[in-house]
Amino acid sequence: MDEPVTQLACPSARAEPGNLLYGHVSEGQVHRLGTPIAVTPEFVDAVSGNGPPEQRFRFAGTCQEGRCAQWTGTGCGVIERVLADLQPAAGAGPLPRCFLRSTCRWFAQAGGTACSACSHVVTDARKSVGAQA
Ligand code: SF4
Repeated sequence: MDEPVTQLACPSARAEPGNLLYGHVSEGQVHRLGTPIAVTPEFVDAVSGNGPPEQRFRFAGTCQEGRCAQWTGTGCGVIERVLADLQPAAGAGPLPRCFLRSTCRWFAQAGGTACSACSHVVTDARKSVGAQA
């Protein structure tokens, strides 16, 4: 696999130490924190007992490009699929406030249209086994 060649950030990363917590998901909508929080092992332990954290939070990490299964060879396949599914209107409303924009892989790839769709992305959209409704 290829080494990353850019320093762009993945806006849909895992809950891993070294990554940043920057949003929580409520009723299918991402609510971004004003200031991201560094993910620690203690945080991962604390939130993992209630199901995969990626179902309830959004994390940012380093885009791994060719080392990521989602890499298409030229870009991130996740945002391509999200845009195909949601088809957000380009230029629809103001962009959400987001600390990540200057380095975000999705924004670099698809501009503000990615941001419109991003607010609806749950990193791990699987239902937890035994999750409470
Ligand atoms: S709102 Fe835009 S800049 Fe921020 S993480 Fe989502 S796609 Fe990236």
